[in-house]
Amino acid sequence: MNIQVISIFPAMFDALIDHGVVGRAIREQLLSLSVLNPRDYAGDKHSTIDGRPYGGGPGMVMTPEPMAKAIDAARQQMGATAKVVHLSPQGQRFDHAAAQMFAEASEPLILLAGRYEGVDQRVLDHHVDEHWSIGDYVLSGGELAAMVMIDAIARWIPDSLGNKESAQQDSFVDGLLDCPHYARPEVFDGESVPEVLLSGDHQAIKRWRLQQSLGRTWQLRPDLLEKLELTDEQAQLLEEFKLNLK
Ligand code: SAM
Repeated sequence: MNIQVISIFPAMFDALIDHGVVGRAIREQLLSLSVLNPRDYAGDKHSTIDGRPYGGGPGMVMTPEPMAKAIDAARQQMGATAKVVHLSPQGQRFDHAAAQMFAEASEPLILLAGRYEGVDQRVLDHHVDEHWSIGDYVLSGGELAAMVMIDAIARWIPDSLGNKESAQQDSFVDGLLDCPHYARPEVFDGESVPEVLLSGDHQAIKRWRLQQSLGRTWQLRPDLLEKLELTDEQAQLLEEFKLNLK
Protein backbone atom coordinates (compact mmCIF):
# COMPACT_ATOMS: atom_id res chain seq x y z
CA MET A 1 0.00 0.00 0.00
CA ASN A 2 1.29 3.49 -0.84
CA ILE A 3 0.68 6.54 1.36
CA GLN A 4 1.90 10.07 0.86
CA VAL A 5 1.33 12.78 3.44
CA ILE A 6 1.22 16.49 2.69
CA SER A 7 2.59 18.31 5.72
CA ILE A 8 4.70 21.32 6.62
CA PHE A 9 6.38 19.18 9.32
CA PRO A 10 7.80 16.15 7.45
CA ALA A 11 10.23 15.32 10.30
CA MET A 12 7.31 14.41 12.55
CA PHE A 13 6.82 11.27 10.45
CA ASP A 14 10.32 9.95 11.19
CA ALA A 15 8.94 8.57 14.46
CA LEU A 16 6.50 6.42 12.51
CA ILE A 17 8.89 5.47 9.73
CA ASP A 18 11.64 4.33 12.12
CA HIS A 19 9.64 2.38 14.70
CA GLY A 20 7.16 -0.41 15.38
CA VAL A 21 4.66 -2.04 13.05
CA VAL A 22 4.71 0.78 10.50
CA GLY A 23 8.51 0.83 10.41
CA ARG A 24 8.64 -2.92 9.82
CA ALA A 25 5.92 -2.78 7.14
CA ILE A 26 8.00 -0.14 5.33
CA ARG A 27 11.23 -2.15 5.64
CA GLU A 28 9.43 -5.23 4.30
CA GLN A 29 8.00 -3.16 1.43
CA LEU A 30 4.41 -3.86 2.41
CA LEU A 31 3.90 -0.13 2.82
CA SER A 32 5.53 2.96 1.34
CA LEU A 33 5.28 6.25 3.19
CA SER A 34 6.57 9.57 1.92
CA VAL A 35 5.96 13.18 2.90
CA LEU A 36 5.58 16.13 0.61
CA ASN A 37 6.05 19.66 1.99
CA PRO A 38 3.70 22.36 0.62
CA ARG A 39 6.44 24.92 1.33
CA ASP A 40 8.26 23.46 -1.68
CA TYR A 41 5.31 24.64 -3.82
CA ALA A 42 5.13 28.19 -2.43
CA GLY A 43 5.96 30.84 -4.99
CA ASP A 44 7.99 33.27 -2.82
CA LYS A 45 11.49 33.25 -1.35
CA HIS A 46 10.12 32.82 2.19
CA SER A 47 8.17 29.69 1.19
CA THR A 48 5.00 31.18 2.66
CA ILE A 49 2.09 28.80 3.03
CA ASP A 50 -0.20 30.80 5.33
CA GLY A 51 -2.11 34.05 5.14
CA ARG A 52 -4.48 36.19 7.16
CA PRO A 53 -8.15 35.16 7.00
CA TYR A 54 -10.48 37.21 4.82
CA GLY A 55 -13.05 38.88 7.06
CA GLY A 56 -10.55 39.21 9.91
CA GLY A 57 -10.34 37.22 13.10
CA PRO A 58 -7.61 35.30 14.88
CA GLY A 59 -5.12 32.84 13.41
CA MET A 60 -3.84 32.14 9.94
CA VAL A 61 -5.17 30.04 7.07
CA MET A 62 -3.20 27.70 4.80
CA THR A 63 -3.24 29.50 1.45
CA PRO A 64 -4.71 27.68 -1.56
CA GLU A 65 -1.91 27.76 -4.15
CA PRO A 66 0.85 25.78 -2.40
CA MET A 67 -1.67 23.27 -1.06
CA ALA A 68 -3.35 22.71 -4.44
CA LYS A 69 0.02 22.39 -6.18
CA ALA A 70 1.24 19.92 -3.55
CA ILE A 71 -1.92 17.84 -4.00
CA ASP A 72 -1.49 17.87 -7.80
CA ALA A 73 2.13 16.75 -7.43
CA ALA A 74 1.09 13.99 -5.00
CA ARG A 75 -1.64 12.80 -7.40
CA GLN A 76 0.91 12.64 -10.21
CA GLN A 77 3.28 10.58 -8.09
CA MET A 78 0.63 8.29 -6.61
CA GLY A 79 -1.44 7.68 -9.76
CA ALA A 80 -5.01 8.28 -10.88
CA THR A 81 -6.59 5.92 -8.31
CA ALA A 82 -5.15 7.83 -5.33
CA LYS A 83 -7.67 9.15 -2.83
CA VAL A 84 -7.04 12.55 -1.21
CA VAL A 85 -8.05 12.49 2.44
CA HIS A 86 -8.16 15.71 4.46
CA LEU A 87 -7.62 15.24 8.20
CA SER A 88 -10.23 17.40 9.88
CA PRO A 89 -12.14 17.55 13.18
CA GLN A 90 -15.20 18.11 10.97
CA GLY A 91 -14.71 14.85 9.05
CA GLN A 92 -16.22 11.40 9.32
CA ARG A 93 -15.14 9.59 12.50
CA PHE A 94 -12.21 7.22 11.93
CA ASP A 95 -12.67 3.86 13.68
CA HIS A 96 -11.80 0.18 13.50
CA ALA A 97 -14.08 -0.48 10.51
CA ALA A 98 -12.56 2.44 8.60
CA ALA A 99 -9.00 1.22 9.27
CA GLN A 100 -9.90 -2.21 7.91
CA MET A 101 -11.73 -0.68 4.95
CA PHE A 102 -8.73 1.49 3.91
CA ALA A 103 -6.33 -1.48 4.27
CA GLU A 104 -8.57 -3.80 2.24
CA ALA A 105 -9.19 -1.23 -0.50
CA SER A 106 -5.41 -0.77 -0.67
CA GLU A 107 -5.82 2.35 -2.84
CA PRO A 108 -2.96 4.84 -2.73
CA LEU A 109 -3.74 7.48 -0.10
CA ILE A 110 -2.75 11.13 0.01
CA LEU A 111 -3.28 12.47 3.53
CA LEU A 112 -3.58 16.24 3.82
CA ALA A 113 -2.51 17.57 7.23
CA GLY A 114 -3.81 21.04 8.00
CA ARG A 115 -2.32 23.58 10.43
CA TYR A 116 -3.40 26.93 11.89
CA GLU A 117 -7.16 27.58 11.38
CA GLY A 118 -7.14 25.06 8.56
CA VAL A 119 -6.90 24.94 4.76
CA ASP A 120 -8.55 27.42 2.35
CA GLN A 121 -12.07 26.14 1.66
CA ARG A 122 -11.64 26.23 -2.12
CA VAL A 123 -8.90 23.61 -1.90
CA LEU A 124 -11.11 21.43 0.30
CA ASP A 125 -14.04 21.83 -2.13
CA HIS A 126 -12.18 21.04 -5.34
CA HIS A 127 -9.05 19.01 -4.54
CA VAL A 128 -10.07 16.68 -1.71
CA ASP A 129 -12.07 13.44 -1.92
CA GLU A 130 -12.87 12.72 1.74
CA HIS A 131 -12.58 14.28 5.21
CA TRP A 132 -11.77 12.12 8.26
CA SER A 133 -11.56 12.96 11.96
CA ILE A 134 -9.87 10.94 14.71
CA GLY A 135 -12.20 12.25 17.41
CA ASP A 136 -14.20 15.15 18.78
CA TYR A 137 -11.33 17.35 19.92
CA VAL A 138 -9.09 19.79 18.09
CA LEU A 139 -5.42 19.03 17.49
CA SER A 140 -3.02 21.78 16.50
CA GLY A 141 -2.26 19.96 13.25
CA GLY A 142 -3.30 17.03 11.10
CA GLU A 143 0.07 15.21 11.43
CA LEU A 144 -0.83 13.25 14.57
CA ALA A 145 -4.22 12.40 13.08
CA ALA A 146 -2.50 11.15 9.90
CA MET A 147 -0.12 9.05 12.00
CA VAL A 148 -3.00 7.54 13.96
CA MET A 149 -4.72 6.57 10.71
CA ILE A 150 -1.54 5.17 9.15
CA ASP A 151 -0.74 3.06 12.23
CA ALA A 152 -4.26 1.66 12.51
CA ILE A 153 -4.40 0.90 8.76
CA ALA A 154 -0.92 -0.69 8.70
CA ARG A 155 -1.99 -3.33 11.25
CA TRP A 156 -4.49 -4.62 8.67
CA ILE A 157 -2.09 -4.84 5.74
CA PRO A 158 -1.56 -8.60 5.20
CA ASP A 159 1.68 -9.85 6.87
CA SER A 160 2.42 -6.53 8.61
CA LEU A 161 2.05 -8.05 12.07
CA GLY A 162 4.51 -10.67 13.30
CA ASN A 163 1.71 -12.95 14.49
CA LYS A 164 -1.10 -13.15 11.95
CA GLU A 165 -3.71 -13.82 14.62
CA SER A 166 -2.91 -10.92 16.89
CA ALA A 167 -4.97 -8.28 15.08
CA GLN A 168 -7.90 -10.70 14.81
CA GLN A 169 -8.06 -10.99 18.58
CA ASP A 170 -7.91 -7.27 19.33
CA SER A 171 -10.72 -5.09 20.59
CA PHE A 172 -13.53 -4.16 18.16
CA VAL A 173 -12.76 -6.89 15.58
CA ASP A 174 -15.74 -9.03 16.58
CA GLY A 175 -17.58 -6.14 18.21
CA LEU A 176 -16.18 -6.90 21.69
CA LEU A 177 -13.29 -5.58 23.80
CA ASP A 178 -10.21 -7.78 24.13
CA CYS A 179 -9.76 -10.11 27.13
CA PRO A 180 -7.09 -9.43 29.83
CA HIS A 181 -3.53 -10.61 29.17
CA TYR A 182 -0.83 -11.94 31.54
CA ALA A 183 2.88 -12.76 31.23
CA ARG A 184 5.59 -13.99 33.65
CA PRO A 185 5.93 -13.96 36.63
CA GLU A 186 3.07 -16.20 37.75
CA VAL A 187 2.56 -14.08 40.90
CA PHE A 188 2.92 -10.28 40.83
CA ASP A 189 1.99 -7.86 43.61
CA GLY A 190 0.55 -10.87 45.47
CA GLU A 191 -1.85 -11.63 42.62
CA SER A 192 -1.70 -14.88 40.65
CA VAL A 193 -2.42 -15.39 36.99
CA PRO A 194 -5.95 -16.87 36.56
CA GLU A 195 -5.63 -20.63 37.05
CA VAL A 196 -7.32 -21.57 33.79
CA LEU A 197 -4.45 -19.94 31.84
CA LEU A 198 -1.99 -22.36 33.47
CA SER A 199 -4.18 -25.42 32.84
CA GLY A 200 -3.07 -26.21 29.28
CA ASP A 201 -6.75 -26.88 28.48
CA HIS A 202 -7.13 -24.93 25.23
CA GLN A 203 -10.91 -25.23 25.08
CA ALA A 204 -11.28 -23.92 28.65
CA ILE A 205 -8.85 -21.07 27.91
CA LYS A 206 -10.77 -20.11 24.78
CA ARG A 207 -14.04 -20.15 26.73
CA TRP A 208 -12.54 -18.06 29.58
CA ARG A 209 -11.17 -15.48 27.14
CA LEU A 210 -14.51 -15.12 25.39
CA GLN A 211 -16.25 -14.77 28.73
CA GLN A 212 -13.80 -12.07 29.84
CA SER A 213 -14.29 -10.21 26.54
CA LEU A 214 -18.05 -10.31 26.97
CA GLY A 215 -17.83 -9.26 30.63
CA ARG A 216 -15.44 -6.40 29.98
CA THR A 217 -17.51 -5.10 27.11
CA TRP A 218 -20.61 -5.24 29.32
CA GLN A 219 -18.75 -3.37 32.09
CA LEU A 220 -16.82 -0.82 30.05
CA ARG A 221 -18.63 -0.39 26.72
CA PRO A 222 -22.24 -1.51 27.02
CA ASP A 223 -22.96 0.51 23.86
CA LEU A 224 -20.95 -2.07 21.88
CA LEU A 225 -22.93 -4.97 23.32
CA GLU A 226 -26.18 -3.31 22.32
CA LYS A 227 -25.11 -3.55 18.68
CA LEU A 228 -24.52 -7.32 18.89
CA GLU A 229 -26.85 -10.26 18.78
CA LEU A 230 -25.23 -12.72 21.19
CA THR A 231 -25.31 -16.46 20.50
CA ASP A 232 -26.86 -18.69 23.19
CA GLU A 233 -23.37 -19.67 24.33
CA GLN A 234 -22.22 -16.03 24.56
CA ALA A 235 -25.36 -15.00 26.46
CA GLN A 236 -24.79 -17.84 28.92
CA LEU A 237 -21.12 -16.94 29.40
CA LEU A 238 -22.07 -13.34 30.10
CA GLU A 239 -24.70 -14.37 32.64
CA GLU A 240 -22.10 -16.56 34.35
CA PHE A 241 -19.66 -13.61 34.40
CA LYS A 242 -22.27 -11.38 36.05
CA LEU A 243 -23.11 -14.05 38.64
CA ASN A 244 -19.41 -14.50 39.51
CA LEU A 245 -19.17 -10.78 40.33
CA LYS A 246 -21.82 -11.08 43.03
N1 SAM B 1 -10.45 25.58 12.78
C1 SAM B 1 -10.58 24.16 12.69
C2 SAM B 1 -11.91 23.72 13.25
O1 SAM B 1 -12.28 24.23 14.30
O2 SAM B 1 -12.57 22.82 12.67
C3 SAM B 1 -9.47 23.45 13.44
C4 SAM B 1 -8.12 23.64 12.87
S1 SAM B 1 -6.91 22.70 13.70
C5 SAM B 1 -6.27 23.85 14.86
C6 SAM B 1 -5.59 22.52 12.56
C7 SAM B 1 -5.59 21.23 11.76
O3 SAM B 1 -5.47 20.12 12.64
C8 SAM B 1 -6.83 20.94 10.96
O4 SAM B 1 -6.79 21.63 9.73
C9 SAM B 1 -6.76 19.44 10.78
O5 SAM B 1 -5.95 19.08 9.68
C10 SAM B 1 -6.09 18.98 12.06
N2 SAM B 1 -7.00 18.41 13.06
C11 SAM B 1 -7.36 18.99 14.23
N3 SAM B 1 -8.18 18.20 14.94
C12 SAM B 1 -8.33 17.07 14.22
C13 SAM B 1 -9.08 15.88 14.42
N4 SAM B 1 -9.82 15.70 15.50
N5 SAM B 1 -9.02 14.92 13.46
C14 SAM B 1 -8.28 15.09 12.35
N6 SAM B 1 -7.54 16.22 12.11
C15 SAM B 1 -7.58 17.19 13.02
